[in-house]
Amino acid sequence: MRKVTLIEGDGIGPEITEAICRIFEAAKVPIEWERENAGQTTLAERGELIPESLIESITRNQVALKGPITTPVGKGFKSINVQLRKTFDLYQNVRPCKTTQGVDSKFDNVDIVLFRENIEGLYSGIEFYDDRLEMSDSIARITKKGCERIVKAAFDYAQKYGRNKVTLVHKANILKGAGGLFLNAGKEIGENYPDIVFDDKIIDNMCMQLVIKPEQFGVVVTTNLFGDILSDLCAGLVGGLGVVAGANIGDDVAIFEAVHGSAPDIAGKGIANPTALLRSAVMMLYHIDLSEYAERIDAALNNTLKNKIDCTGDLGGNANTEQFTQKIIENLN
Ligand code: NAD
Repeated sequence: MRKVTLIEGDGIGPEITEAICRIFEAAKVPIEWERENAGQTTLAERGELIPESLIESITRNQVALKGPITTPVGKGFKSINVQLRKTFDLYQNVRPCKTTQGVDSKFDNVDIVLFRENIEGLYSGIEFYDDRLEMSDSIARITKKGCERIVKAAFDYAQKYGRNKVTLVHKANILKGAGGLFLNAGKEIGENYPDIVFDDKIIDNMCMQLVIKPEQFGVVVTTNLFGDILSDLCAGLVGGLGVVAGANIGDDVAIFEAVHGSAPDIAGKGIANPTALLRSAVMMLYHIDLSEYAERIDAALNNTLKNKIDCTGDLGGNANTEQFTQKIIENLN
């Protein structure tokens, strides 16, 4: 049995992780959950946002599934998600966005996998405020190594999954330093993959192209801030944050997570949609080479999503979390 760290998170986190555990049990997935937690609940119970035991568990197991976490608002509380990314050097944020039959969206043929650099750029935390001049600097520092490894991850993915084009998104026409470094890394790395077309787009044009003709894109790679924005834009093309998976991946550790928040407005009501977390869990199964189980669960989910009536309210259905989960379990067979 492969051990995996399970972080249920806050708000709707416990409800949707429970759904995933039930589906995995029904599908007899050969993994054993090691339960840990982080966030507001943990702060209240144990006086710390990220317990050392969680860090130890992830270090040991190298793979984790994480529900949404509430980072308390106020001074001294750093984002837990950012801390986990930095602690484990999770430099790839991977977000597959594909249209699904039954899920309302403006397009019916989107199949994009977005690779966002997850550590550097405007999120590197280098910020200065000059009281005297009432002036602030936020530094977008990126390194050649940082650019190369995220671009390589995108090309490796394209090669592994038979995608014939990688589109690099940048603003090198204006941000000649950081943007230029990223674009050059793309051109250089791309030469090692002669069967994959390397394409580049300026971020503003990319946004327009995505909302007009998203089917022209497959694997997309970009820097941290542009990736943050594009990942939600791409989610919007296929039905929103409630249905897309997300993963933070490094060379050693990978954390798979629901990309939506802890939804405090519906927490405890039993009506949350577990699709995003389930899809992240499916990604995790591919990552740890349990593809057979991943395919079976993915097919059961997609079959369930075809009948709106069986889905949760946010998807236009009548079911609660429990009933939706039960349908997915029935569809496993
Ligand atoms: P949110 O995603 O929690 O909620 C936005 C809206 O979407 C709400 O109306 C909510 O009910 C709905 N929603 C979200 N997920 C849903 C689901 N699975 N099923 C049905 N409806 C769902 O965003 P927010 O309100 O801006 O943030 C709430 C908290 O979540 C904040 O504390 C924020 O810090 C945290 N957050 C965490 C993560 C993360 O851990 N990855 C991401 C975003 C926000």
